[in-house]
Amino acid sequence: MSDLRDLYQEVIFDHNRHPHNFGPMPHANRQADGFNPLCGDRLTLRLLVENGVIQEARFEGAGCAISTASASLMTDALKGKTEAEANQLFTGFHQMVMGEPPAIDLGKLAVLAGVQEFPARVKCATLAWHTLTAALKNETTAVSTE
Ligand code: ZN
Repeated sequence: MSDLRDLYQEVIFDHNRHPHNFGPMPHANRQADGFNPLCGDRLTLRLLVENGVIQEARFEGAGCAISTASASLMTDALKGKTEAEANQLFTGFHQMVMGEPPAIDLGKLAVLAGVQEFPARVKCATLAWHTLTAALKNETTAVSTE
């Protein structure tokens, strides 16, 4: 069990040091900012949604290891998902970090299950997901680079 926990921490550490999908996305058509005042985590999430499917997801910002790893894992998981599937993932992820059995298979997102033992860090882990909900609700005009 402790080996498994070490492995999970290593994955979180890796995602924090080398976050996936980190950087700007000029052609995004959804965007939202998230802030977790308890920890000071800030992130901007950008999505490219076409025909109800999330084609790309990228984020920028600065936060603790948990918030950065969570955003990195989330943006990986979102690619190719419909908005409904993304909402189901959020529901399952939220159940997991609250210590409930998730209703769906969370895949790699399960590495953050250990957060349930640290209630103060739950908001770090869910920040990216709350930002996702805001981004999916608020369609923004695509930023033009012209
Ligand atoms: Zn944090």
